[in-house]
Amino acid sequence: MAHSEQITEIFASRVFSEDVMEQRLPREVFDSLRRTIASGSEIDPGIADAVAAAMKDWAVENGATHFSHWFQPLSGVTAEKHDAFLTPIGGGKAIMDFSGKELIRGEPDASSFPSGGLRATFEARGYTAWDPASYAFIKDGSLYIPTAFCSYTGEALDNKTPLLRSMDALNAEGVRLFSLIGEPVERLTPTVGAEQEYFLLDEKDYKARRDLYYCGRTLFGAPAVKGQELDDHYFGVLPTKVSMFMRELDLELWRLGIPAKTKHNEAAPAQHELAPIYTTVNIAVDQNLLMMECMKKLAPKYGMTCLLSEKPFDGINGSGKHNNWSLTDERGDNLLKPGHSPEKNKRFLLILAAVLRAVDEYQDLLRVSAATAGNDYRLGGNEAPPAIVSVFLGGALEDLIDSFIEEREYLPHRKKDMSLGARAVPPIRQDTADRNRTSPFAFTGNKFEFRMLGSSQNIALANIVLNTAVADSFAEFADRLAAADDRERELRALLADTFRAHRRILFSGNSYSPEWEAEAGARGLSILRTAPEAYERFAAEKNVALFERFGVMSRTEILSRREVFFDAYRKIRNIEARTMLEMTIRDFIPAVSRYLSDLSRSVNERKAALPSGANCGCEEELIRRLSVLLDRAYRDFRALERAEALAAEKRESTAAFYYKDQVMPKMAALRRTVDEMETLTARDYWPVPTYGDLTYPRDL
Ligand code: ADP
Ligand code: MG
Repeated sequence: MAHSEQITEIFASRVFSEDVMEQRLPREVFDSLRRTIASGSEIDPGIADAVAAAMKDWAVENGATHFSHWFQPLSGVTAEKHDAFLTPIGGGKAIMDFSGKELIRGEPDASSFPSGGLRATFEARGYTAWDPASYAFIKDGSLYIPTAFCSYTGEALDNKTPLLRSMDALNAEGVRLFSLIGEPVERLTPTVGAEQEYFLLDEKDYKARRDLYYCGRTLFGAPAVKGQELDDHYFGVLPTKVSMFMRELDLELWRLGIPAKTKHNEAAPAQHELAPIYTTVNIAVDQNLLMMECMKKLAPKYGMTCLLSEKPFDGINGSGKHNNWSLTDERGDNLLKPGHSPEKNKRFLLILAAVLRAVDEYQDLLRVSAATAGNDYRLGGNEAPPAIVSVFLGGALEDLIDSFIEEREYLPHRKKDMSLGARAVPPIRQDTADRNRTSPFAFTGNKFEFRMLGSSQNIALANIVLNTAVADSFAEFADRLAAADDRERELRALLADTFRAHRRILFSGNSYSPEWEAEAGARGLSILRTAPEAYERFAAEKNVALFERFGVMSRTEILSRREVFFDAYRKIRNIEARTMLEMTIRDFIPAVSRYLSDLSRSVNERKAALPSGANCGCEEELIRRLSVLLDRAYRDFRALERAEALAAEKRESTAAFYYKDQVMPKMAALRRTVDEMETLTARDYWPVPTYGDLTYPRDL
């Protein structure tokens, strides 16, 4: 597989790409479909049969027997149902058939997908609708057709629909704004590259812990002797098995047309990262979901398990996802490139101002987009941005902004050549700003990087929020410019006003420091520490107004999502609490009790062997200490059991808050006790693999 021709050949070989369409579709059909894809316009229903037939022939030639409408229900993962192409035609014969109707519309029974009250169970009808802008692909013998998913009455039950709507809003408002400043664009498209972090564990160890396979994270575990303090894993040599896994993963992703690009070890032991090359946001979302799925499915082939949850282990870094976001025009030019003279680059300045305003006005919504039960264990833990949204621009751009605020001239910061002092090494070009690793929303030269997202999340909501909030800024700017007589002058005033009004969102210091939290509070920034607190903000009037203004989500769709969020949070905590109870009473307490019996027997035997006086100080001390802990573990168990029973009676947001405020402290207390028992219990007796076993696997 080393030949570059072979690699380029396999790229997108399982995708019904534009290339394949061109080869297989009649000219008029292809042109019509391409117009739809390029401009996001409506599909001509008349071409559906021809497209379906070509897709089916191509899929069958490539080994597919089924097709599946693939969609993204609100639960955050993907959903699929497979139908065979096979159609009996009588006389014991059958053909492979696929109609335009089947391509365009599916009708899965939607009753068991979370809908947040949008649909009662008895109203089971839901529709999936083909998204022609995201290519169909073949996986595991099925033709996958990316679709949107809605209720019988047309409300979006998925993540894709509002995302597509937000792209339309952003495009419309951007096109209007840029034509007003005399620098028109035909089409404005958000692009996204999502960097994905993950853990690889030994599959045997994973299967030996119920917390891992029920919850995707450990709920117990004393710290390993060695954590990540030496930083020797970060960018370290890839272990052989991991490297083989990554290689096959790359090939698999390339076949699916996903341009996997960068791979490396991450900060925590057993943690890794994969970043693809960016693409149009709705495709980037699909590709990220597919990438996560491929990781999970491939790992067992190498005897490993891939963990995508946000905080598998206490005390070492968890996994996030960096959402790199930018805007391109119809030629694919990135409009977030500042260029040599950013102070004169009107489009860049407007986008910069629009993003600052959007992030400041809708901090709470961005926070919501990163709020999950799992991410609560990670945000603010000195490894990920805190629960406060702020923007890092770097010295040069901050100076540019201040030049507008202070109405003074801006002297461009030029990139300098920097010599490394070794003659054989050529000088390198230094950027005008360093990076800031701790910022939740950082400008990184030609894009913004939103770093709060959790590794298991669908990145759609973050991008729905970003697109819509920026569309809102564009709309406001456009209205103001349209009403002005002297647009040049108005533009300068608009930029100065916007930068002045939203400068408070800029922060270039250490976002992990406690001082920042105090300062953010003083600046009036929103601090939403936990997911339930964030969810409360989702349906705030200003947020409902934003989404309704651009037709991205209706009040009903927002309220239903809010309910789904609370519900998921409650259920996840419930499963975590019950897993802890079960492991405590059925694994840990019996194990320690067994160890105590053996220690006691050994004391008795030694005393019998040496009646004149055996020294059993060590065992006696261990028996004393472990007995105290064992008793405490049982009391902690009972306290959690009671809290959990009360929580289970509560509903919706009340339940979520009850878990956060009442149940989680009891979970933490039980964990402390059990972890302390672990450190005193003989290795052979401890019933599950330890943190050391898990994070430093012996045979990778
Ligand atoms: P960095 O080193 O700053 O993290 P990389 O070049 O490694 O930057 O890119 C990180 C991610 O950002 C990649 O997924 C990349 O494709 C993506 N990216 C780069 N340019 C853009 C852009 N214009 N729009 C969206 N994402 C981008
Ligand atoms: Mg990055």
